[in-house]
Amino acid sequence: MRILRPRVVAPVGAASRQLCHQFSSSPLRAPLARTASVSTTTTVPFTLASSAARCRRRGSAAADRVLGPLTSSRPLSVGHEAPKQPPTFAFAFDIDGVLMHVAKPIPGAARTLAYLQQQRIPFILLTNGGGKHETERVADLSARLGVTLTTENFVQSHTPFRELVDSPGEGLRDRNVLVTGSDAARCRAIAEQYGFRRVVIPADILAAHPDIFPFDPLMRERYAATARALPPPLPEDVGAAGGGSSGGGHPLRIDAILVFDDPRDWALDIQLITDLLASRGGVLGTYSRRNGRPDLPGRGWQADGQPALYFSNPDLHWSAGYRHPRLGQGAFQAALAGVWHELTGGQAALRRTVIGKPHGRTYGFAERVLRAHRETLWASAGAGEQKLPPLRRVYMVGDNPASDVRGANEYASPHGTPWTSILVRTGVWDPDRAGAPAHQPGRIADDVAAAVAWALEREGWPAAGGAGFDALAAREG
Ligand SMILES: [Mg+2]
Repeated sequence: MRILRPRVVAPVGAASRQLCHQFSSSPLRAPLARTASVSTTTTVPFTLASSAARCRRRGSAAADRVLGPLTSSRPLSVGHEAPKQPPTFAFAFDIDGVLMHVAKPIPGAARTLAYLQQQRIPFILLTNGGGKHETERVADLSARLGVTLTTENFVQSHTPFRELVDSPGEGLRDRNVLVTGSDAARCRAIAEQYGFRRVVIPADILAAHPDIFPFDPLMRERYAATARALPPPLPEDVGAAGGGSSGGGHPLRIDAILVFDDPRDWALDIQLITDLLASRGGVLGTYSRRNGRPDLPGRGWQADGQPALYFSNPDLHWSAGYRHPRLGQGAFQAALAGVWHELTGGQAALRRTVIGKPHGRTYGFAERVLRAHRETLWASAGAGEQKLPPLRRVYMVGDNPASDVRGANEYASPHGTPWTSILVRTGVWDPDRAGAPAHQPGRIADDVAAAVAWALEREGWPAAGGAGFDALAAREG
């Protein structure tokens, strides 16, 4: 089981930014080649007690518009010293190397978050980690930090995939999506909790078509434990001609491929993904006649209704217990791009969409979550009809210049809200080894407590009840 993990980020490079599709400002859009009949009914289970549900605050609806209904308790711990005037600033915190180090809290982190909650200063947690549902991850983090956190202000690498479920007119809720990751079965469960209803994982395809990857029967036995029957055909696919089938004689058409976190079985995943990217209309077992045609843009590759390809995280490396960084999802992406380069004879770059820090789409999603969370806090403060003042600044506190700092520095808020990066010394950045940060932060601080103290002072935030932040942080040591 992977716990929140420290990462060393090295984006795959310029190629990773050659994105085939553009997310809209809100919500993210699934650029499908076909018009889909899509249900927009939200049926994600809502597990709060009914009495609590009746008491949901007005502001919670704002968060739900971004994240969907929550499945965990949400109230924040708020003390009696909260100022009446809402702050016009907020924070975004990376987790690994800022709040946690190898699953242990970094000194000052818990007190810092508790103080911000007490003061009703909004913040979000923004991580490139993933592989667990947000509810599970938040519960784990809350227990380790000793601070009550909620999914309302928590964004991990694949959280923005939620917005693909119900994109107007093009949502993937009732479309076939191929999902893979470190534990594809677990990733399927997460995707289904997000609202995707027709999730296929590599094991399903291998079980239905053993010849598609004619190696190692032991692997097939292992995959059989998580395989499900392929979904029945979509109405428009019944009777459609296709070289592949779902096992029942019907073609299996995949509309999107979602890489949730770091795949383990690269060979199988690369085989299946390249099959689909070379297919006709995303139908497994077909091959597009447009592939390689010199008279078509991009030689016709990925231009015949093939599924959109999404990666949740560009990190080439991540920092684990071993002395050197380990290959991450960015390495898988690079491997897939390399195979695609060979398959196309170098004629076409792999077209894909990459989110996760430092990409702006993730920062845009995070800002929407933060703004919704801020509305919730304001509503819960009993502000009545009093207008919430604009959000004038967000402080991004991170340990990685290539990810946290670069992302904040380059992000252009659609609301004109500047993001100021603060680099802490408690994580992957080591000035003795790496020298000056490749991306210059707005501030370098010893740790998260110092980072927040600097920002609070810069904002002129008054100490509450004589127990200012510095005193609180100092008590924790
Ligand atoms: Mg980090």
